[in-house]
Amino acid sequence: MTIRANLLDTIGNTPLIRLNRLSDETGCEILGKAEFMNPGQSVKDRAALFIIKDAMARGTLKPGGTVVEGTAGNTGIGLALVGNALGLRTVIVIPDTQSQEKKDMLRLAGAELVEVPAVPYSNPNNYVKVSGRLAEKLATTEPNGAVWANQFDNVANRQAHIETTGPEIWEQTGGRIDGFVAAVGTGGTLAGVGIALKKHNPSIKIALADPHGAALYSYYTSGELKAEGSSITEGIGQGRITENLVGAPIDLAYRIDDAEAVKIVFDLLEHEGLCLGGSSGINVAGAVRLARELGRGSTIATVLCDYGTRYQSKLFEPSFLREKGLPVPEWLEQPARIRA
Ligand code: PMP
Repeated sequence: MTIRANLLDTIGNTPLIRLNRLSDETGCEILGKAEFMNPGQSVKDRAALFIIKDAMARGTLKPGGTVVEGTAGNTGIGLALVGNALGLRTVIVIPDTQSQEKKDMLRLAGAELVEVPAVPYSNPNNYVKVSGRLAEKLATTEPNGAVWANQFDNVANRQAHIETTGPEIWEQTGGRIDGFVAAVGTGGTLAGVGIALKKHNPSIKIALADPHGAALYSYYTSGELKAEGSSITEGIGQGRITENLVGAPIDLAYRIDDAEAVKIVFDLLEHEGLCLGGSSGINVAGAVRLARELGRGSTIATVLCDYGTRYQSKLFEPSFLREKGLPVPEWLEQPARIRA
């Protein structure tokens, strides 16, 4: 073990974990990249670091400057922590539908939080658009300037995965990998890892796992951006082709139900000790589909995006699950059995 120079050097190089039950069941190797082990407990620390480093290298972001972003939470947490380590301020615009735990974490990290109603991207008051306008304003009023991180269309985001996540997966599997699957928020992870893996071996299959309410499954299967339904998952579910998705080498697409994803999240916690958020359930469900498609003996990697405690009040709350018509794991309902 070596001493890391600072927090930035603790981002990435996460373990790749064999998901034992699902691997045994499918006769494949199903591997999860443990992104919840990043310091901000999500895959988005990588994008936050690359976006900030890129803006500093360009000279648009200076010490004491402000980073503004619209985010479902995880990117904001990454930006706030990396920002603190580099002497930057962060202003985060977040839709009010996101979990309380993520908002609390942002506040405790010192980010200034601007909560806005959740409205579609086509609405000028959508959180992404509000954050862009706010960045423009703060660029002129803040003493050390401000930049917009713009994770959806800033390709420094997917560059993080081209340069780090993808090569790590290639090295960790010794190049013995047949497929990679992930859901899309910005598309940085799927496009970046896809590009990196295809560079090593173009026959590796890259697959999208899309929740309901997103338009990409329909886009990659029929060419039409069309969304139906909704999902309790957070941080994923895209309705347009972001700059990060442009040219993404996507071979296959699956649409995953919340019920399937949630069951996987609970099984991984109960049987493997992995405490994960809902998007990881969508990803692992996608990995199982891809494993079945590629056949026994294949090796599939996916991303375990963030830590489950971030969703304690929703995904792990029986009343919330019941309200959504989702299964409640037995252990969450059990009354206290043992008394001192
Ligand atoms: N899962 C969670 C929990 C996230 O916050 C995000 C990012 N918004 C993703 C998955 C998707 O990652 P990406 O933005 O790289 O597509």
